[in-house]
Amino acid sequence: MKIIRTTQSRISEVDFANLEFGTGLSDHTFLSEYSNGNWDEGRVEPYGPLKQGLALHALHYGQAVFEGQKAYRQVDGGIAVFRPRDNAKRLNRSGARMMIPELPEELFMNGLDALIAVDQNWVPYGDNQSLYLRPFLFGSSEFITARPSEDYTFGIVTSPSGELYTKPVRVKVERQFTRATEGGVGFAKAAGNYGGAFLATREAVQQGYQQVLWTDHHNHEYFEEAGTMNVAFVVRGTLVTPALSDRILAGITRDSILTLCKDWGIPVEERPITVTEIIDASLSGELQEAFGMGTAAVVSPIEAFGMDDKLYSVPVPEDGIAARMRAALSDIRYGRLEDSHGWMHRVALR
Ligand SMILES: *Cc1c(COP(=O)(O)O)cnc(C)c1O
Repeated sequence: MKIIRTTQSRISEVDFANLEFGTGLSDHTFLSEYSNGNWDEGRVEPYGPLKQGLALHALHYGQAVFEGQKAYRQVDGGIAVFRPRDNAKRLNRSGARMMIPELPEELFMNGLDALIAVDQNWVPYGDNQSLYLRPFLFGSSEFITARPSEDYTFGIVTSPSGELYTKPVRVKVERQFTRATEGGVGFAKAAGNYGGAFLATREAVQQGYQQVLWTDHHNHEYFEEAGTMNVAFVVRGTLVTPALSDRILAGITRDSILTLCKDWGIPVEERPITVTEIIDASLSGELQEAFGMGTAAVVSPIEAFGMDDKLYSVPVPEDGIAARMRAALSDIRYGRLEDSHGWMHRVALR
């Protein structure tokens, strides 16, 4: 694989003591291109502009999918990525829905490893910090006919990050806008799913919330996701979370938390959850916790949810399931706790 190193690193401009989420980009990218039925072996090169002009296919027809994952500085100074092959597989599931050709998993893994090795100084050392990794795939032909792209590009950009939302959030039960429909693309990490959600989120923010709780597209009776995270409730000691469907994104954080629940003997129910059931549990005091689950924030505790001008409060116990999950996942990710599920992928540093 070709590696072209920058001669002008930007790392000295980064304030590692005050990292935001997803704004500063590291020095290099990985890029591989698909044409005539083949992916090339890829290359690491300095971050920079694309070569295509404004007829770039993905900009017009949205054949674009992405991933979000993190590399963690280990207690021994090494670097490891959490469950990267699961991201590679999900990228291909998302891509298949958008008619994007399959990306070989080894190309994904080799690209990630090579890029992290080149930009290893960008993996921060601070508490709860990480290098956020953004692999993405998009149609990169230049034409404006409404048909699938012929060429595709796989890219990875990375960004040193602190942790997103640390404070408990107030969420709005969203019953006007819909994130995903049956037969649609909700299960895919398709770029347009985010574009389509921004307006609902902004309206919620204008109404005094930080996020939306998405409900189903039929009658807005069932909870589906929390913003760009999966959602879980703890009711009478049981963790309940919506069952996966083509409207729900299969989060790797969700899957990891469900696995830890099994390890720890916490009962789990994956099933449809009605808004009414959660309101009742809140009123009767049986709702013990509610939280979002996703790579960016790990767990994001919900302190209240609002519907029909009423606000229902949710406890945020300091030693609750959300807090214990966040701590356990952090310990595994930074190498402080045994990785009994083989989740961590060590990056070879040259
Ligand atoms: C990415 C994403 C998630 C969380 O997935 P993780 O693999 O846990 O990061 C959940 N819901 C939506 C809509 C997402 O895009």
